[in-house]
Amino acid sequence: MDLRDFQQLIEKMYSRKDRERGAAGTFLWLMEEVGELAAAVGEGADEAKKRDEFADVLAWLATLANVEGVDLSDALQAKYGRGCPGCGKMVCECKGKP
Ligand SMILES: [Mg+2]
Ligand SMILES: [Zn+2]
Repeated sequence: MDLRDFQQLIEKMYSRKDRERGAAGTFLWLMEEVGELAAAVGEGADEAKKRDEFADVLAWLATLANVEGVDLSDALQAKYGRGCPGCGKMVCECKGKP
C-alpha cells in the first residue's frame, strides 16, 4: 500500500468521526501514539510491538492531514522529492545537521 492509498483508506474508515473530533483532539491522539512509539523503541519492545506503534503514528498523522485537508504524498513530493530541502542534494551535504 502506498502513502496516498493509505491516507484515502484512513479517510474512508474514519473521516466522519475525525471531523467531529477536529484538529486539536486529533493532534492529542497523535501525540499519545508518538509517546507509545517512544516507549516501544526506548524499552526495546519486540518487532511486532514496534511495527504496531509505527503504524499507529502514521495512521494518526494521516488522520490529522485529512482533517486539515493536506495530501501527504503531495506534501512529501513538494518538500523532499527533489532532494534535501536545505542543500538540494539527494545525499544531504548540509553542514551542521546531526
Ligand atoms: Mg499505539
Ligand atoms: Zn542537506
